[in-house]
Amino acid sequence: MENLSVFFRNHIISGKTDHFDEYVTFKKFFLANSGTFYTWLDRIFTNKTLKNNIRANELRKTGNEYYIKKDYENSLLFYTYSLCFAEPKSESYALSYSNKSAVLFEIEDFEQCLESINICLSYKCSDSIKLKLLIRKAECYRNLNRQKEFDNAVNACEELIRFLHLKEFEREKYLNKLKVVSKNLKTSNQSPSVPLPILKDDASDLYLYASSVLKIRETKERGRHVITEKKLNVGDVLFIEKAFSFAPILLDESDTEIKLSKCFYCLSDALKVCIPCLSCTKVIYCNKKCRSESWKECHQWECLGMQTNFWQEIGVGFPAFRAFLKGLSSHFERLPSNYDFEMCPFGDETNNYRFFNALVTNFCHMENITKILIIATAIVCYLEKYTDFYVFNYSKLNYEKKEDLVIESGAHLCKHIAQFICNANVIHHLSSNFLNNPEMPFNVIPVACGIFPSISIMNHSCKPNISLYFEKDVAIVKAVETVEAGGEIFNCYGANYLFYNKLERQEKCEGVYHFTCDCIICSNPHLEIENYDTFSCKNCGGQLLKTSPDYNFKCVNCSQASKLVHVGEIEEKVSELYSKPNPSEKYLLACLKRLNDDLYPKHSCFVHIYAILTEYYTEKGDIKELFKYSKLLCDTEKSRLGDYNMQVGIKLKTLIKCIHSCLEKKEFGDIQQYRKEIEDLSQMVDDMKKILGLYFHLGNHHFEKIEFAVGALRFVLQISLKNQ
Ligand SMILES: [Zn+2]
Ligand SMILES: [Zn+2]
Ligand SMILES: [Zn+2]
Ligand SMILES: [Zn+2]
Repeated sequence: MENLSVFFRNHIISGKTDHFDEYVTFKKFFLANSGTFYTWLDRIFTNKTLKNNIRANELRKTGNEYYIKKDYENSLLFYTYSLCFAEPKSESYALSYSNKSAVLFEIEDFEQCLESINICLSYKCSDSIKLKLLIRKAECYRNLNRQKEFDNAVNACEELIRFLHLKEFEREKYLNKLKVVSKNLKTSNQSPSVPLPILKDDASDLYLYASSVLKIRETKERGRHVITEKKLNVGDVLFIEKAFSFAPILLDESDTEIKLSKCFYCLSDALKVCIPCLSCTKVIYCNKKCRSESWKECHQWECLGMQTNFWQEIGVGFPAFRAFLKGLSSHFERLPSNYDFEMCPFGDETNNYRFFNALVTNFCHMENITKILIIATAIVCYLEKYTDFYVFNYSKLNYEKKEDLVIESGAHLCKHIAQFICNANVIHHLSSNFLNNPEMPFNVIPVACGIFPSISIMNHSCKPNISLYFEKDVAIVKAVETVEAGGEIFNCYGANYLFYNKLERQEKCEGVYHFTCDCIICSNPHLEIENYDTFSCKNCGGQLLKTSPDYNFKCVNCSQASKLVHVGEIEEKVSELYSKPNPSEKYLLACLKRLNDDLYPKHSCFVHIYAILTEYYTEKGDIKELFKYSKLLCDTEKSRLGDYNMQVGIKLKTLIKCIHSCLEKKEFGDIQQYRKEIEDLSQMVDDMKKILGLYFHLGNHHFEKIEFAVGALRFVLQISLKNQ
């Protein structure tokens, strides 16, 4: 797109007119500029990436290198890449599955291993590979304790061995392998799937995907927004919404964060077993059904563009195009302009297009809509020149001329691109449970860009009172604060006060969403996280807020003004604390005292010093002190970020691990001293579960290990108390 951007740099078309009409605007732009776009397309289409067995073999080799290093995640990933490049049904194609099955066997995911083997066996492969796979198949059944299938697999192996006329010693080798009976039968290592939560007080009749307590309201000042009719408690489930439309984030060789591991049609995990698109090299699916549905619905028009960088180049145009396709069959239906959003239904499970089509575009606020016109024109030119999209659809949709659909589709694309810019969500998935290892840190990765019309109605706050996370293509929204009946529900459009200062947030809100934020944080300077880093009032201990640059402060609580003379000295102390390596206990406690005398208790310095102290006492094995400072650390974070902030949950997870490992090292005879601590630890685990459950799609198995460990400690404690 770079050349086009340069070309149109001085080409500014404003959306700020009394009656913005995307049809007229697009038509004018398209007729004047389409030639340039055709040239641009010609250029990018000279460089196509096609199926290529040589490349597939190279990628498989890289996968093998990871396999040898026991890096199973990357080996699976590279076998997937290899599969994408392999010519369908070729030997290279079959080998990718064969190699995947080896990894899956290694990580004891026998179900998926069997699936890989069966796919591989359905293609042509050499007899030696076939024999290897049949033996692996038998071993899978043995591990899964499926006797009858195991017997059948063994028979198939023996038959093949007979057929191959192997030398005696080879025959023996294989037959012996089959005779080994596994001593410890294992169950399959597939992590159980976690069911979706249940909406508070059932689903609404009027508001699709929302809890029945939620209502849409529309006022002049606040526009459309969402309120609750009942009091909400932390954890109440407010929305469970399937994406109206989404597009996976496309692989970019320079970005290692994006991995090809999700089904392009349903966003299921497809790293272990997947099938590739038969034509392009960038798309995988979880099964054949997803592949054929996807082809019918959208991929038949996308696939050619996937052979170049076309869809990557047009960015948000890709998901907008997918939404556009959903409007085709209903002739891009709209809600009537006087639609009453308060009284009439919002959302229609079978045809949600007209509700998606009612989302704001903000055209009338945009200084410059050239970029949107460029993206829409690029898509239209691509469809016109490289696909039979218009030929196929114009008569089917009763357009008189093909050109009518060409222009109209461009206008709809413009609108949808604008709607995506101000309403779309980046769909994140949790990546931690890879290989079913709940011990890994929680890590989320962006997987797609999607649109959720019902959720989009919520207004923004820099401090949202909900959490939002995703499972496949479903968004789940929960309350993270109590909200009184009649209160408004706020999402955060990205300008979170924990990560951006007020100026940055205002720029984001105005620049992308065209409003001035007046949320609780933006209208209360003392709540800004950076203003917690201050001194406490000598009069009442309240928060001092800087009133002028020369160290004049005013207390938020009692309004008393202070002129702090020793500010420099404390600040020096603080910076010393941050830079001193291996500080002694005495030094740390002296520091803490000094900070306690002068700093506001929500100051980030306390988080820092408490963290150092917990580390110090973990190393020393001093459980009482470790507990004391862990609690102070958590309480300080809660007071800064909110009781149910995700960071608090993650911190708890780390602290629980430290405390547990300390307790575990204690002698049996000493355990009674820590009765209170062990009880508190169970409480901490419950706390952590509750908080993390608000932000991630977690099941009990994610906490099994730590709960078991804490349970074991309690058990030991009870025995020791009985023995007394
Ligand atoms: Zn799928
Ligand atoms: Zn394709
Ligand atoms: Zn705000
Ligand atoms: Zn005060």
